Amino acid sequence: MHQAALEKCGIAARYGRLHIRPEELSAALQLLVQNDFIGTNLTIPHKQTAMDLMDEVDGQARKMGAVNTVTIEDGKLIGFNTDGPGFVRAIRAEFGVDVRDLRVLLLGAGGGAGRAIAVQCALEGCERLVLVNRTFEKARALALELQPHFAGPRLIGPVARLEAVPWADDALRAQLQHTDLVINATSIGLNTASPSPISAALLLPHLLVYDTIYTADKTPLQQAADDAGARHANGLSMLLHQGALSFQIWFKRDAPIDEMREALLRFARKG
Ligand code: NDP
Repeated sequence: MHQAALEKCGIAARYGRLHIRPEELSAALQLLVQNDFIGTNLTIPHKQTAMDLMDEVDGQARKMGAVNTVTIEDGKLIGFNTDGPGFVRAIRAEFGVDVRDLRVLLLGAGGGAGRAIAVQCALEGCERLVLVNRTFEKARALALELQPHFAGPRLIGPVARLEAVPWADDALRAQLQHTDLVINATSIGLNTASPSPISAALLLPHLLVYDTIYTADKTPLQQAADDAGARHANGLSMLLHQGALSFQIWFKRDAPIDEMREALLRFARKG
């Protein structure tokens, strides 16, 4: 995706992949500075620990507690987070709606992607956020952390604005009556032969269903959404938009989004 963008814009640079162990991160970042790198993306397990290794951290990244994009300017490491804003753009692009206007139910609130999405939903001030996770304690801890964002006086009926609920059919059925957007941030469905994380029988036609798993094919959750008559999309758009925002940070210009999307699709089709 990034190499396609660099080529489209005539920028003589390469986007490469470096395998860095946790104990090597600090030295690796300094090597990037010394070797005139423009910047880097960071992924698991570095996003949180990198916060303390930056010379400056952008406000959004500070709120998320994680850095996924680093730009190097005048020898300084400046950290950003494009995961949350990338998710918001993806929802707008796929469904033509803003996260802040939605009642969101998030499956997999205990993982890294789930946390980024939950925090972004809270920062956006979404209408309602329901956190679901196999390990319930993690969803409950995150709900406690996000509580201050939902303290405001918004009138949306008889249900709470922020809840952690157990992963059980009865609880999900009740919650989905008061939901607009269902998100899968679990790894269930990475294998397309696996069952959907939530069955078609529980889904309702009014729902927007977003699976963060990225693939050129329909995920099991998307199949279930189809069966229920609900609209759906998968995580290719989230991956695309977080990448496009990183490109904008590094090069201070708009990203060639069509070329990036094409490159991502080519990659996804290769499986
Ligand atoms: P993590 O390992 O951090 O989290 C995994 C999550 O899945 C946890 O909530 C875990 O629950 C849950 N989970 C795993 N197996 C099961 C199961 N059998 N039943 C119920 N819940 C389960 O992974 P990430 O957050 O990094 O990734 C999660 C998903 O997000 C992946 O599918 C990945 O492809 C996608 N992703 C998409 C991105 C995009 O740009 N589109 C970016 C990053 C990730 P528990 O806490 O109980 O273990």
